[in-house]
Amino acid sequence: MIYLLPIGKISQTFFNKLGKDLKNRFDKDCQILEPLDLPGYVYTLDREQYQAGKILDRISELELPIGCKVLGICDVDLYSSGLNFVFGQAEMGDRDCVVSLFRLNPKFYGQKFNEQIFYSRILKEAVHELGHTFRLHHCPDAKCVMHFSNSLEDTDYKENEFCEKCKGKLNL
Ligand SMILES: [Zn+2]
Ligand SMILES: [Zn+2]
Repeated sequence: MIYLLPIGKISQTFFNKLGKDLKNRFDKDCQILEPLDLPGYVYTLDREQYQAGKILDRISELELPIGCKVLGICDVDLYSSGLNFVFGQAEMGDRDCVVSLFRLNPKFYGQKFNEQIFYSRILKEAVHELGHTFRLHHCPDAKCVMHFSNSLEDTDYKENEFCEKCKGKLNL
Protein backbone atom coordinates (compact mmCIF):
# COMPACT_ATOMS: atom_id res chain seq x y z
CA MET A 1 0.00 0.00 0.00
CA ILE A 2 1.14 3.53 -0.78
CA TYR A 3 -0.41 6.22 1.40
CA LEU A 4 -0.73 9.75 0.06
CA LEU A 5 -0.48 12.21 2.92
CA PRO A 6 -1.56 15.83 2.40
CA ILE A 7 0.54 18.10 4.63
CA GLY A 8 -0.70 21.55 5.56
CA LYS A 9 -3.07 23.52 3.39
CA ILE A 10 -3.10 21.82 0.03
CA SER A 11 -5.53 21.20 -2.79
CA GLN A 12 -6.33 17.51 -3.11
CA THR A 13 -7.91 17.73 -6.54
CA PHE A 14 -5.17 15.71 -8.23
CA PHE A 15 -4.73 13.10 -5.49
CA ASN A 16 -7.01 10.50 -7.08
CA LYS A 17 -5.28 10.82 -10.44
CA LEU A 18 -1.88 10.62 -8.77
CA GLY A 19 -2.97 7.52 -6.86
CA LYS A 20 -3.95 5.79 -10.12
CA ASP A 21 -0.71 6.75 -11.86
CA LEU A 22 1.39 5.56 -8.91
CA LYS A 23 -0.47 2.26 -8.78
CA ASN A 24 0.48 1.87 -12.40
CA ARG A 25 4.20 2.42 -11.69
CA PHE A 26 4.54 0.46 -8.44
CA ASP A 27 1.68 -2.04 -8.68
CA LYS A 28 0.48 -1.05 -5.18
CA ASP A 29 -2.87 0.35 -4.12
CA CYS A 30 -2.93 3.97 -3.04
CA GLN A 31 -4.99 5.45 -0.29
CA ILE A 32 -5.32 9.08 0.79
CA LEU A 33 -4.73 9.78 4.48
CA GLU A 34 -6.28 12.52 6.59
CA PRO A 35 -4.25 15.72 6.20
CA LEU A 36 -1.43 16.37 8.62
CA ASP A 37 -0.85 19.86 10.01
CA LEU A 38 2.48 21.33 9.03
CA PRO A 39 4.36 21.55 12.33
CA GLY A 40 5.81 24.99 13.14
CA TYR A 41 9.23 23.61 14.03
CA VAL A 42 10.01 22.58 10.44
CA TYR A 43 10.17 26.27 9.47
CA THR A 44 13.58 27.96 9.36
CA LEU A 45 12.99 31.66 9.85
CA ASP A 46 16.23 33.07 8.40
CA ARG A 47 15.82 31.05 5.19
CA GLU A 48 12.02 31.38 5.03
CA GLN A 49 12.00 27.71 4.03
CA TYR A 50 10.99 24.41 5.54
CA GLN A 51 13.39 21.63 6.44
CA ALA A 52 12.48 18.49 4.49
CA GLY A 53 14.22 16.14 6.94
CA LYS A 54 12.13 17.41 9.82
CA ILE A 55 8.93 16.84 7.85
CA LEU A 56 10.11 13.26 7.25
CA ASP A 57 10.68 12.90 11.01
CA ARG A 58 7.14 14.07 11.65
CA ILE A 59 5.72 11.64 9.06
CA SER A 60 7.70 8.81 10.62
CA GLU A 61 5.69 9.26 13.84
CA LEU A 62 2.53 8.03 12.07
CA GLU A 63 1.66 4.46 12.90
CA LEU A 64 0.70 2.61 9.74
CA PRO A 65 0.72 -1.04 8.63
CA ILE A 66 4.13 -2.64 8.16
CA GLY A 67 5.38 -2.73 4.59
CA CYS A 68 3.54 0.38 3.43
CA LYS A 69 5.06 3.52 1.94
CA VAL A 70 4.01 7.08 2.71
CA LEU A 71 4.28 9.96 0.27
CA GLY A 72 3.85 13.30 2.02
CA ILE A 73 2.76 16.13 -0.26
CA CYS A 74 3.13 19.73 0.83
CA ASP A 75 3.04 23.14 -0.77
CA VAL A 76 5.87 24.96 1.01
CA ASP A 77 9.44 25.66 -0.05
CA LEU A 78 11.65 22.79 1.13
CA TYR A 79 15.39 22.68 1.67
CA SER A 80 17.91 20.19 2.85
CA SER A 81 21.37 20.82 4.30
CA GLY A 82 23.82 21.82 1.58
CA LEU A 83 21.08 22.53 -0.98
CA ASN A 84 19.27 25.80 -1.68
CA PHE A 85 16.05 23.94 -2.19
CA VAL A 86 14.74 20.44 -2.88
CA PHE A 87 11.70 19.28 -4.83
CA GLY A 88 11.40 16.40 -2.40
CA GLN A 89 13.34 14.08 -0.13
CA ALA A 90 13.55 10.43 0.78
CA GLU A 91 16.01 8.23 2.57
CA MET A 92 17.05 5.09 0.72
CA GLY A 93 14.73 2.21 1.52
CA ASP A 94 12.74 4.12 4.15
CA ARG A 95 9.00 4.04 4.52
CA ASP A 96 8.45 7.78 4.09
CA CYS A 97 9.17 10.42 1.49
CA VAL A 98 7.98 13.93 0.80
CA VAL A 99 7.49 16.14 -2.25
CA SER A 100 6.65 19.81 -2.44
CA LEU A 101 4.49 21.41 -5.09
CA PHE A 102 5.95 24.84 -4.38
CA ARG A 103 8.60 24.97 -7.12
CA LEU A 104 6.72 22.69 -9.52
CA ASN A 105 3.96 25.22 -10.08
CA PRO A 106 4.49 27.36 -13.22
CA LYS A 107 3.18 30.31 -11.19
CA PHE A 108 6.30 30.21 -9.01
CA TYR A 109 8.30 31.21 -12.11
CA GLY A 110 5.88 33.97 -13.03
CA GLN A 111 4.32 31.82 -15.75
CA LYS A 112 0.67 31.15 -16.47
CA PHE A 113 -0.80 28.25 -14.50
CA ASN A 114 -0.89 25.11 -16.62
CA GLU A 115 -2.48 22.12 -14.96
CA GLN A 116 -1.00 19.58 -17.34
CA ILE A 117 2.59 20.78 -16.86
CA PHE A 118 2.09 21.13 -13.12
CA TYR A 119 0.67 17.63 -12.77
CA SER A 120 3.33 16.01 -14.94
CA ARG A 121 6.01 17.49 -12.66
CA ILE A 122 4.20 16.32 -9.54
CA LEU A 123 3.97 12.79 -10.93
CA LYS A 124 7.69 12.72 -11.81
CA GLU A 125 8.82 13.93 -8.40
CA ALA A 126 6.41 11.57 -6.63
CA VAL A 127 7.65 8.55 -8.62
CA HIS A 128 11.24 9.68 -8.04
CA GLU A 129 10.99 9.95 -4.25
CA LEU A 130 8.99 6.74 -3.94
CA GLY A 131 11.64 5.11 -6.15
CA HIS A 132 14.21 5.91 -3.44
CA THR A 133 12.00 4.28 -0.81
CA PHE A 134 12.11 1.17 -3.02
CA ARG A 135 15.92 1.37 -2.93
CA LEU A 136 16.59 2.96 -6.30
CA HIS A 137 19.61 5.27 -6.52
CA HIS A 138 19.99 8.19 -8.90
CA CYS A 139 20.23 7.17 -12.54
CA PRO A 140 22.70 8.62 -15.07
CA ASP A 141 20.04 8.42 -17.81
CA ALA A 142 18.67 12.00 -18.03
CA LYS A 143 15.35 10.67 -19.38
CA CYS A 144 14.83 8.29 -16.47
CA VAL A 145 12.56 9.42 -13.63
CA MET A 146 15.34 8.49 -11.17
CA HIS A 147 17.69 11.08 -12.68
CA PHE A 148 18.51 13.76 -10.10
CA SER A 149 16.70 17.04 -10.81
CA ASN A 150 19.01 19.90 -10.01
CA SER A 151 16.63 22.30 -11.69
CA LEU A 152 13.14 22.39 -13.10
CA GLU A 153 14.60 21.92 -16.59
CA ASP A 154 15.89 18.53 -15.45
CA THR A 155 12.45 17.61 -14.17
CA ASP A 156 10.75 18.74 -17.37
CA TYR A 157 13.26 16.84 -19.50
CA LYS A 158 12.90 13.49 -17.80
CA GLU A 159 10.06 11.02 -18.28
CA ASN A 160 7.63 9.96 -15.57
CA GLU A 161 8.75 6.32 -15.92
CA PHE A 162 11.75 4.23 -14.89
CA CYS A 163 14.30 3.30 -17.50
CA GLU A 164 14.63 -0.44 -18.14
CA LYS A 165 17.65 -0.72 -15.82
CA CYS A 166 15.89 0.98 -12.92
CA LYS A 167 12.71 -0.99 -13.55
CA GLY A 168 14.76 -4.14 -13.20
CA LYS A 169 16.25 -2.96 -9.89
CA LEU A 170 12.95 -1.84 -8.40
CA ASN A 171 12.66 -3.76 -5.16
CA LEU A 172 8.88 -3.79 -4.55
ZN1 LIG B 1 16.60 11.68 -5.70
ZN1 LIG C 1 17.07 4.75 -14.65
